[in-house]
Amino acid sequence: MNGYTHMIVGGLSGAVPVAISLAEKKFGFSLGSEHVYYPALGILPAVAGSLGPDIDLPNSKGGRAVRLFLKSAITLFGALSLIFAVYLCFIDKLIRPVNVLFPALAIFILVCLVRLLLPIARHRKGTHSGLALLIILSPVLYIIGYMSANLLTNILLSIWFGFCIGWISHLAADTFNRKGVPWLYPLDGKFYRIANIVTGGKRERAFRKVCVVVFSVVYLAILIYV
Ligand SMILES: [Zn+2]
Repeated sequence: MNGYTHMIVGGLSGAVPVAISLAEKKFGFSLGSEHVYYPALGILPAVAGSLGPDIDLPNSKGGRAVRLFLKSAITLFGALSLIFAVYLCFIDKLIRPVNVLFPALAIFILVCLVRLLLPIARHRKGTHSGLALLIILSPVLYIIGYMSANLLTNILLSIWFGFCIGWISHLAADTFNRKGVPWLYPLDGKFYRIANIVTGGKRERAFRKVCVVVFSVVYLAILIYV
């Protein structure tokens, strides 16, 4: 699918938890312990996350722009997580430095590695796999598992969770493509698909319209029944 379709599906997906929060008349959902997820903060990150897996696009004009944007985003995220970790160590004294600095350093090294490996990434391989999904989800698990809950961590958690929703929506949308998605790569290189839509074709335009209708029905159902 092209970037336009992914952004629409990403935004529509990010709005589902917002519909649930509206139906339940609350701003955030408690995630175990003290951590709270605010779905409204995740809509724009979901749109950005929906472009994420195509960071491996060939050197088309659009692909280069997406790469540049995402490279800057992951570098910025890496740097911010380090600054944030230092802040937590010296200002939020409740948490032991080792619990924050090491995982933050690990994430920073990880994003630097992703940046280095990008030029040799093949389209629709690593970034479109379940493995990439686990890596992308790891900051969420890290925040819940290691960071003490406060407004800042909850905001960070909500933004990153939204980004993950967008990323997942990309893989789901590409599963409707003729080429499919290697969900189990690198364990299994098979491409899985459930439809035969060609990128940029008439069917993709129809797919976008169907998505808008299906998601609208889902929002309505949530608002009525939840
Ligand atoms: Zn893709």
